[in-house]
Amino acid sequence: MGKFKLTFHAERCKGCGLCVAVCPKKIVSMGHQVNSKGYAPAGVENEEACIGCASCAVMCPDGAIEIYQAEGGSAK
Ligand code: SF4
Ligand code: SF4
Repeated sequence: MGKFKLTFHAERCKGCGLCVAVCPKKIVSMGHQVNSKGYAPAGVENEEACIGCASCAVMCPDGAIEIYQAEGGSAK
C-alpha cells in the first residue's frame, strides 16, 4: 500500500545515476536493460517504501521522474 506512485520515463533517462544517489530510502536503482539511446534507465524497486520526498524528481536533469500521490488507494 504505497502512498506514492513513481513513473520513470525510460526514454528520457540518461543513466546518470543522480536519482539513485539522492534517494534517502535507497530504493532507486539503475536498470539492466537499455533504452533506445543506449542508456540503462533508472527505476524504483520498492515503491512501497517511498516517502514522497521528491528528491529524485527534483534532481533529475532530464525530468524523467514523476511522482504522484496515490490517494487513499490501499488496493494494489
Ligand atoms: S521521492 Fe524520495 S523516497 Fe521516493 S524514490 Fe524519490 S528520492 Fe526516493
Ligand atoms: S536522474 Fe534522471 S536521467 Fe539520471 S539516472 Fe535518474 S532518471 Fe535517469
